[in-house]
Parts: sequence; C-alpha cells; structure tokens
Amino acid sequence: MNLVLLGAPGAGKGTQAKYIAEYYHIPHISTGDIFRRHLSEGTPLGQQARTYMAEGKLVPDDITDAMVDERLRLPDAIRGFILDGFPRNVNQGTALEVMLADRERHLDAVIYINVPRDVLIERLVGRRVCPQCGATYHVRFDPPKVDGICNVCRSSLVQRPDDRLETVATRLSVYSEETAPLTAFYQERGNLLEIDGTKSVQSVYEAIIQRLGARHD
Ligand code: ADP
Ligand code: AMP
Repeated sequence: MNLVLLGAPGAGKGTQAKYIAEYYHIPHISTGDIFRRHLSEGTPLGQQARTYMAEGKLVPDDITDAMVDERLRLPDAIRGFILDGFPRNVNQGTALEVMLADRERHLDAVIYINVPRDVLIERLVGRRVCPQCGATYHVRFDPPKVDGICNVCRSSLVQRPDDRLETVATRLSVYSEETAPLTAFYQERGNLLEIDGTKSVQSVYEAIIQRLGARHD
C-alpha cells in the first residue's frame, strides 16, 4: 500500500499515520520528523533546514525531494509506505510521481484530513511532544498521565518551537498558498479520499480504514 497523508499542520496526520502504518505493516515516513532528527544531530542537512523550519517555511524542494528519494530506497519501503508531510506543494507532487514511476509504482490513495483553521490552531498550540521517544500529546485532548511527563519514557515534554502562535500563523498561510492546491492535483488523478478530521482520533482512524478498504474490495 503506497499512501500519502495530506492535511494542514495540526490536522492529525502524525497521529493517524502511526495507526495506519501498524495496520498495513508499512513504514511511516514523516519529512518533518526526518528534518527534526537531522537538526538535533547537527548534520549538514539539519543546518540547511534550520532557518526554514524555525520560520515555519518550506525547506527548498531539491533538498526535500532528495531526502525522500533516499528514504524510499530503504528496504522497508519496498512493500509500501505512508508519507506524512510530503508532498507539500505541486512541484513535490510531480517529483513524487517521477520517483514512483522510476520504480514502476504508483500511489494507491491520498488521504486528505480536513480540519478548519480554528481547530488547527487549538491543536497546534496545545501539542506537546517527547524529545526522547517522539510521542505526541495534547494539553486538553490527549494529556499525559502525569502533567508534562511522557507516559512512554518519562522524559519531560516540550512544545515544538514552531508550534508557538507566531510561527503557527506563517505555517497555516504556507499551507493555504502552497500545499492546499495539492487537493485539486490529486482529485484530478482520482485518488483523493477526503476525511472529516474534526472527530475523535478513533473515529477518524475508522473512517480512513473503511474508505481505504472500500477502495480495494
Ligand atoms: P500533524 O501531524 O497533522 O501536524 P498531529 O497528529 O501531531 O498533527 O496532531 C496535532 C495535535 O492534535 C496533537 O497534539 C494531537 O494530540 C492532537 N490531535 C490529533 N488528532 C486529534 C483528534 N482527532 N482530536 C483531537 N486532538 C487531536
Ligand atoms: P511538520 O512536522 O510536517 O509540521 O514539518 C515541520 C517543518 O519541516 C515544516 O514547517 C517545514 O519547514 C519542514 N518540512 C517538512 N516537510 C516538508 C516538505 N515536504 N517540504 C518542505 N519542508 C518541509
């Protein structure tokens, strides 16, 4: 199963991707997570991405496309993948088509999680993440058992610097201008599945699995 998860920052892509990846036994490939790993390890790629990420802008396409191409070459991606955060503009969408065509593969579906702006802002500013194991929480919608402490590894939770209100506004504008046109791009290709992302995590997950199943029956 070759899948793309589309949606604004805060739509719930990472949350859903984790479950979908487990269900289909495919790797969850988050370009944001890969960039953050490079940042924390201080690699040259991390250095190149740093300013764009801090400002809530997109890292240039050539850097991002090359990183995804390399990731898709790893053996675990041979039987499928779920991409989260890529493509982020029509150029990247076209680059992905070329990468897949080169491997005689195609996308099975593009899941578009639709969430209105006011809900996105609430989700983003309340998101807390574990810097150690990557688990994600929300101060209201999914709080940890002990305030500020990761349930999984007991590390102190942090707010992503780009989840502060000042940067959230830029990220949502970048989404509207650059990423939202991808819904029409995939609609034209006939593989867009739109899901109402305002429901509970479990309801959104069930709707996604049901729509994907209906498509492949
Ligand atoms: P994205 O990967 O699209 O940026 P996340 O999956 O990290 O979004 O979710 C953003 C925030 O919203 C997180 O704090 C997460 O816990 C919370 N969240 C995700 N899905 C839901 C949902 N269906 N209802 C309420 N909160 C949610
Ligand atoms: P995310 O975790 O998906 O919210 O991404 C965090 C940040 O990483 C974004 O604001 C961008 O700066 C960068 N990023 C992630 N994916 C991409 C992409 N496909 N193209 C360009 N920049 C990206």
